[in-house]
Amino acid sequence: MDVRLAENDQSGTLYILSTPIGNLKDITLRALDILANVDVIAAEDTRTTGKLLGHYHINTTMMPYHDHNKERVTPQILAQLQEGESVAVVSDAGTPGIADPAFYLVREAVQNRIRIIPIPGAAALLPALVASGLPTDRFVFEGFLPARKGRKTRLGELEQQVRTIVLYESPHRLNRTINDLFEVLGDRPLVIARELTKKFEQFWYGSLEKAANSLDEIPLKGEFVLIVGGLTKKLKRSKKYS
Ligand code: SAM
Repeated sequence: MDVRLAENDQSGTLYILSTPIGNLKDITLRALDILANVDVIAAEDTRTTGKLLGHYHINTTMMPYHDHNKERVTPQILAQLQEGESVAVVSDAGTPGIADPAFYLVREAVQNRIRIIPIPGAAALLPALVASGLPTDRFVFEGFLPARKGRKTRLGELEQQVRTIVLYESPHRLNRTINDLFEVLGDRPLVIARELTKKFEQFWYGSLEKAANSLDEIPLKGEFVLIVGGLTKKLKRSKKYS
């Protein structure tokens, strides 16, 4: 990618705007102000964003922008920005671009020298990490592991990872992912953060082995972040890693 030398002065602004991951109060005053004042909101799920807008009495026009239409609608959004309009891209939850399709639009906007302003706010990875009790000074965000192609390679890459590992997972793949992590990484500390900021928020503190053998205390419903301990010197010295 070329180095961006200067923004196009005539362009409008693309706001990458973070929204709550569950609790509607987890949104900044600045984000609400921008949502109320942009020309259009490009929303991953217009129903979810509609509820947020309704809660705050905001009636800005929305347009769908998601994984299945991103290639088709990005040129249209860029044209609007080039005409001087302002657009806020929001995802279903949290920070757009973190494990969701906003990356595609932002990359195109950078290449077209559109002015970009990120509006920070909620994302699922940080609250899970900071409550895990595992080292936070260095960590890697792995997002979702691939369901099929490339899964083994990605798991293999994690085996020697010394930093704390943060993963996203859906409820129907949680058991499989925990089993695969245990098989490849051996026993490690594991924290499962479920339904963050919501009514049934729950943290499970244990290990990959314990979770692989029985995960009865955690209902397999809702949304999950997994935090796995990195490879420590102690583990390295043990037989499995020698
Ligand atoms: N952009 C979002 C962010 O900033 O975190 C992530 C979008 S990704 C499509 C959705 C995944 O994020 C879920 O499958 C889950 O792993 C995680 N997630 C989102 N909200 C969550 C919550 N309230 N509690 C736990 N995990 C959550």
